[in-house]
Amino acid sequence: MRVSIEIPAWVLTEQTKLPTHLTSTEAQMEAVIHFSRLNFQNQTGGPFAAGVFEKETGKLIAIGVNRVVPEHVSSAHAEIVALSLAQQSLETFDLGGPGMPHHRLVVNGRPCAMCFGSLPWSGIRSLVIGASGEQIETITGFDEGPIHPRWQDELQSRGIDVIEDVLADQACDMFREFAASGAKVYNGRSGSDD
Ligand SMILES: [Zn+2]
Repeated sequence: MRVSIEIPAWVLTEQTKLPTHLTSTEAQMEAVIHFSRLNFQNQTGGPFAAGVFEKETGKLIAIGVNRVVPEHVSSAHAEIVALSLAQQSLETFDLGGPGMPHHRLVVNGRPCAMCFGSLPWSGIRSLVIGASGEQIETITGFDEGPIHPRWQDELQSRGIDVIEDVLADQACDMFREFAASGAKVYNGRSGSDD
């Protein structure tokens, strides 16, 4: 038995069009927003993508997209997919292990409560965010869950620096396109009996 999450073929095709290194934070975010848009347009998952990059060099390690609905896996958020791809390709569960270059995770929207919890476990040293949690919830109706009120401090105290509001306008434009598309917004149970 094995748990698996298939990555759509278009992701690999698009990834080959990118340079091996994206050296600016904005270029990394632009790529991630591009993948999040293609993911909902191709109907291969929700409007979320994440990339793992080497922090110093900008070397692209992995890009993940949301795969919850097509793969029947509630935890298949883009962050979890990208971190898992990076860890398996580097053959380590700890991206911050001894002798490793520092890694950053770049996401088009603030991680939800589940993904927030996954960050300290992953070994990343840096988190880069496009749209805020409030922007995502207001524009799309996704429920991002009960995140810690001082989540930035909690990450920073664990050696993960946080950069917010990177190309947030472009990230929000993509979420608006998603909302206007009429695509399904799925949420886990939020306490209702429906
Ligand atoms: Zn998440």
